[in-house]
Amino acid sequence: MKIFCVGRNYAEHAKELNNNIPAEPVIFLKPKSALLLLNTPFYYPEFTNELHYEAELVLRISKNGKYISETQAAHYYNAVTVGIDFTARDVQNELKEKGLPWEKAKAWDGSAVVGKWVDLRPEMISKSINFSLKVNSELVQSGNSKNMLFSFNRIVSEISKYFALNIGDLVFTGTPEGVGECVVGDVLAGFFENDKVFQFDIK
Ligand code: ZN
Repeated sequence: MKIFCVGRNYAEHAKELNNNIPAEPVIFLKPKSALLLLNTPFYYPEFTNELHYEAELVLRISKNGKYISETQAAHYYNAVTVGIDFTARDVQNELKEKGLPWEKAKAWDGSAVVGKWVDLRPEMISKSINFSLKVNSELVQSGNSKNMLFSFNRIVSEISKYFALNIGDLVFTGTPEGVGECVVGDVLAGFFENDKVFQFDIK
């Protein structure tokens, strides 16, 4: 199982971190060990002092493929949810400054949180999907898939040029604006439309 992530897929988020709007999807990976397993506690990592949440729509790949065209891409995923691409922002800033890879900031154990899956019907792909994140019951991020710079289908097609997609692979599709810091004791809850798909606290 592979975990793909898209960076800078919402213009307002690229702006808030002073990044340029990309001409093509920015893709990076997390290993399987990054997935926070269900009912496993999330511990604040000891190597960061600036842990950020990034709430994102996550797709689940349902068919093996390579060189998938954008028009065929919708046949390759069948479930969606909200997840968190946890980021050690201080570590990431240091790595970015030195032009080094991001893995230490993004790909550590437990850094990928995935909510309860929702079946993705074809008509949902063309429509916009609302999602949000609350920290301690306060709304901190609210996104809509129509604001993505690159659509689900474009992302899946682009990834498949470089990497074979396999059943069960996950695709984090990028975070909207409003990323921020969280601390021990915070309670994070993710919503797909109005349904709560995860809730956990930071230990
Ligand atoms: Zn992200």
